[in-house]
Amino acid sequence: MTIRHHPGDEFLLAHASGAGSETVSLIVGTHLALCPPCRVKVASMEQMGGALLAGIAPAEMSASALSSAMAKLDDIAADKPAQSSDPLPPVIAPEPLRSYIHGDIDRVRWIPIGPGVSYRPLLKRRDARVQLIRTAPGAGVGTHTHRGEELTLVLTGGFTDVTGSYRRGDLQTTTPEIVHRPVTDADGYCVTLAMTDAPLKFMSPIVGVLGKLFGF
Ligand SMILES: [Zn+2]
Repeated sequence: MTIRHHPGDEFLLAHASGAGSETVSLIVGTHLALCPPCRVKVASMEQMGGALLAGIAPAEMSASALSSAMAKLDDIAADKPAQSSDPLPPVIAPEPLRSYIHGDIDRVRWIPIGPGVSYRPLLKRRDARVQLIRTAPGAGVGTHTHRGEELTLVLTGGFTDVTGSYRRGDLQTTTPEIVHRPVTDADGYCVTLAMTDAPLKFMSPIVGVLGKLFGF
């Protein structure tokens, strides 16, 4: 598995500092479980953050700050066997996603929303929603653009749109300028973990009505 599409550094930094929202953390954290290079990057961001904190701590605090920084370094070292390609090959949904669906993808009760497309809402915080979307080979969710940001992480299978091809572990980040029609690759079902922070704008009025109904 070669992951070609990664979260931007701003997402990794927010994750490393614990400043990310729950919705974004669910997606970025699940990407990290699948992506050794991003885990190494986040580990070094945490390391830099720890060093910074240790540097600015008052003298009487520095011993404990140092020991916690050292403990963190140990954790990072323990985590580094990142080198092994895919840590959990048979698991489609690694943590943190796994906890949200109480198991793997086979536990999900899908809600059909159109030909070859079903979904399962997972999380809603203010205007941000995270859902699993399952599409049959050749199916798609319709041409749409965005009012806000959309993050889509491929868990199994793959899809292609004007911006490229996305397979397991790839994370697509789209913004309001992008109009796209993701179509599932021909080699099997595609399951994605998708987050929107505002409802999508569908180009077709009928799909738009369906989208509103199902909270896309
Ligand atoms: Zn990555």
